[in-house]
Amino acid sequence: MRTFAEELAALRSEGLFRSMRVVEGSQSGRILLDGREVLLFCSNNYLGLADHPKLKKAAIMAVESSGVGSGASRLVSGTMELHEALENRIAAFKGTDAALVFNSGYAANTGIVSAIVGRGDVIFSDRLNHASIVDGALLSRARFVRYPHNDMTALRRLLEDTEVENGRRLIVTDGVFSMDGDLAKLPELAALKREFGALLMVDDAHGMGVLGETGRGCAELCGIMADVDIQMGTLGKAMGSFGAYAAASGEIIDYLVNRARSFIFSTSLPPAVLAASMAALDMVDSPDGAELRASLARNTLLFKSGLQAAGFDTMGSETQIVPVYVGGAEQTMEFSRLLLAEGVFVQGIRPPTVPAGSCRLRCTLMANQSEDDVVQAVAAIISVGKRLRIIE
Ligand SMILES: *Cc1c(COP(=O)(O)O)cnc(C)c1O
Repeated sequence: MRTFAEELAALRSEGLFRSMRVVEGSQSGRILLDGREVLLFCSNNYLGLADHPKLKKAAIMAVESSGVGSGASRLVSGTMELHEALENRIAAFKGTDAALVFNSGYAANTGIVSAIVGRGDVIFSDRLNHASIVDGALLSRARFVRYPHNDMTALRRLLEDTEVENGRRLIVTDGVFSMDGDLAKLPELAALKREFGALLMVDDAHGMGVLGETGRGCAELCGIMADVDIQMGTLGKAMGSFGAYAAASGEIIDYLVNRARSFIFSTSLPPAVLAASMAALDMVDSPDGAELRASLARNTLLFKSGLQAAGFDTMGSETQIVPVYVGGAEQTMEFSRLLLAEGVFVQGIRPPTVPAGSCRLRCTLMANQSEDDVVQAVAAIISVGKRLRIIE
């Protein structure tokens, strides 16, 4: 049997060893890393709400009125007025009958997928879907069929060829793919779902608050909100708070309350987090929210066009997630280290998060970055990219 020390040594020798970096201060455009100010280009705080005064005030007031902990799981005594208010607000925002809050996106996906399908059912899942969807699929014991990324012809063939007697078919996809920043083909998926009588679930972790005219997410952007049976999304990224939700019909939500184990067997979210999420929804749904989205879009365009003009491969990014293709794990981590020396904090992404040979820097834009900082980051990436001979 290999020892843990041997396993860790193997990870190190393959350039796959991971460790955490401690940042000081809030998730704004500049943070302190080892006491030094650097530009932050790897946070999912897309709208800059994580330290917004309105969210902070809402959280503090909720602590004053309702305390710090929620005390129990939702089906025991852990359903507070704030849970119900937030769920009603999310359902109204998403245009669904009902919504259910989960403790995180990871808990939501494992809970939802393992609840709505089981033995005898089949899950059709994009190969680049988030790990939490894959884990939910494994927990469900349903047959798990993965289709090549965004390949609708292949998905159709799999739907035709996969026998399902009496069982459910679930098509599940990220709305925005978290490591590539491209979009799912939702109109085509909606048509396939109707043709084959399948359920469609969309994970909008990176679209909620950001995409669509009013920030309602990728389904709004694609004009197919009514076709998605389960809209899952998170509250810890663009929403600046924490937690996740499922928005769906009253029937599906009741079913999740009875069957989603990550919902049933876990202490519920605390008041401060719920109140911050409510304040975030108010912001996103207001003219201030539209302004933040416009600022994020400006920063994204400036950043992406600068890198593309310099010859970088941004891997089909269509959103504020901008990968910079590198290839090998060692070189990717070297790129990230050199960038940090230049004062830009970006994480390198390696297997198992992405397939071997497709390592990349995963850069993310935020509404609270200044134009000067974006320009400076682009210059630093170009300079290091030339040094490493990734571009000429
Ligand atoms: C981040 C993410 C999750 C997990 O959400 P958490 O709230 O961070 O647990 C789920 N799905 C996708 C696509 C994500 O990017």
